[in-house]
Amino acid sequence: MLDQATNRPDLPPEIARRRTFAIISHPDAGKTTLTEKFLLFGGAIQMAGQVRAKGEARRTRSDFMQMEKDRGISVSASAMSFDFKNFRFNLVDTPGHSDFSEDTYRTLTAVDAAVMVIDGAKGVESQTRKLFEVCRLRDLPILTFCNKMDRESRETFDIIDEIQENLAIDVTPASWPIGMGSDFLGCYDMLRDRLELMDRKDRNRVAESIEIKGLQDPLLETHVPAHLLERLREEVEMARELLPPLDPQAVLEGTMTPIWFGSAINSFGVKELMDGIGTYGPEPQPQNADPRQVSPEETKVCGFVFKVQANMDPKHRDRVAFVRLASGHFERGMKLTHVRSKKPMAITNPVLFLASDRELAEEAWAGDIIGIPNHGQLRIGDTLTEGEMLRAKGIPSFAPELLQSVRAGDPMKAKHLEKALMQFAEEGAAKVFKPSIGSGFIVGVVGALQFEVLGSRIELEYGLPVRFEASQFTSARWVNGDRLAVEKFANANKQHIAHDHDGDVVYLTRLQWDIDRVERDYPDVTLTATKEMM
Ligand code: GDP
Repeated sequence: MLDQATNRPDLPPEIARRRTFAIISHPDAGKTTLTEKFLLFGGAIQMAGQVRAKGEARRTRSDFMQMEKDRGISVSASAMSFDFKNFRFNLVDTPGHSDFSEDTYRTLTAVDAAVMVIDGAKGVESQTRKLFEVCRLRDLPILTFCNKMDRESRETFDIIDEIQENLAIDVTPASWPIGMGSDFLGCYDMLRDRLELMDRKDRNRVAESIEIKGLQDPLLETHVPAHLLERLREEVEMARELLPPLDPQAVLEGTMTPIWFGSAINSFGVKELMDGIGTYGPEPQPQNADPRQVSPEETKVCGFVFKVQANMDPKHRDRVAFVRLASGHFERGMKLTHVRSKKPMAITNPVLFLASDRELAEEAWAGDIIGIPNHGQLRIGDTLTEGEMLRAKGIPSFAPELLQSVRAGDPMKAKHLEKALMQFAEEGAAKVFKPSIGSGFIVGVVGALQFEVLGSRIELEYGLPVRFEASQFTSARWVNGDRLAVEKFANANKQHIAHDHDGDVVYLTRLQWDIDRVERDYPDVTLTATKEMM
């Protein structure tokens, strides 16, 4: 069963074999290392992030950029595709820093499953929990990899208990570790009754797995020292009594996570995890849209933009829009309808993130991620179809939690600043508000580090030094209601009103009291902390 590429024989085989997922973890748990091993075993490959490499050389100013650069593929590769057995994996990267939670949230709208990596000594850490909560909002299936078993780690039962209690999800062991730290020998494969031993001599090599006939098989004694074997037998027996058996349906529904134990740096446990993603991970799932859901098996192509990366090449102000294909079979040169503008777009140079370089995509299927170079037409939340007026749903924009006003160091360059800010707003890197009174802009972000990154990018990419200053406002809310009601409200509250980069009306304030007052005094309008991106 394990090599079979589909849980749904009714899907076209090319779609059924796809697994599109992200890795969620706390910094340092081993996401980068695991990604590298995926690529190694996937015989890959290209990292989409290399499309950013040219720009990166110039972005060494802020520590963050340096950090991104040092960390290599974990933050710079946006999408990676590789094959393993009969499966085609699409791994979509989530930005590692907690300040970029909004970007992360949108990335998670483009995947069907997540691999949660935890450090065996540290268990569930803060960032893992945050990301897990985002996955839970969408009931994403989660597969867990407990890493660094070659180091002193916690007791296996402790780790499992902690996940169950902390994250309120059933945990079922797919493998069971034998020894730990310097004694770590390998794992007992609970699903296939095999012994997987770690090769300590060659980190990139995987030792042959040994078929055994259950825990009483005398063959075990030739491979596992007596004291470890006794313990293994006890623990596995207990685990089988106390923990739920693997229920594939519960995994798909996101209420149970299978856990594999391993050591990414030693390439150990990684193949079993990959098998697990293929076998228990979901094939491309239907995507929410207005006015109807889109199913992967539909023959017509539909895709959603979930991320835009700008200025990959400073000489051309080009951008790449990352599109998750929700349905159909895409072929290069296709003319698709850009739903927001209702205009046709010929997709002549799409990029697939496979093979040794950023490669032109000749074709792609539902579940795949393609990059579409463009000059700014494509924005986060946009939908491309073969004509039907569908709109992506569930790609939200969050109200920023920090606001600052921004000025160009040179007042003559105000127009340039506006252009730069609009571009970053479209890219989703920040919220930009133009107050209806006065000049200048207010920039809103989710985490303070984003101001720094933004300042350094504006300077490097546009040659414009900028200053951020405290703003008189601390909160922003979108104003919703029918057009007349919103207009009336805006006219009566001019000193609080601004427009975002889409021209939507925003209410700025520093007092919760103001927000409550609006809700009381203006029953025709509502203030919201999120808006759907269109
Ligand atoms: P990320 O921040 O989650 O991307 O983590 P990295 O993959 O960069 O790993 C963080 C550190 O842990 C690096 O120094 C890795 O070499 C180390 N590391 C990763 N996997 C393992 C492992 O299985 N065992 C040990 N001992 N160290 C590991």
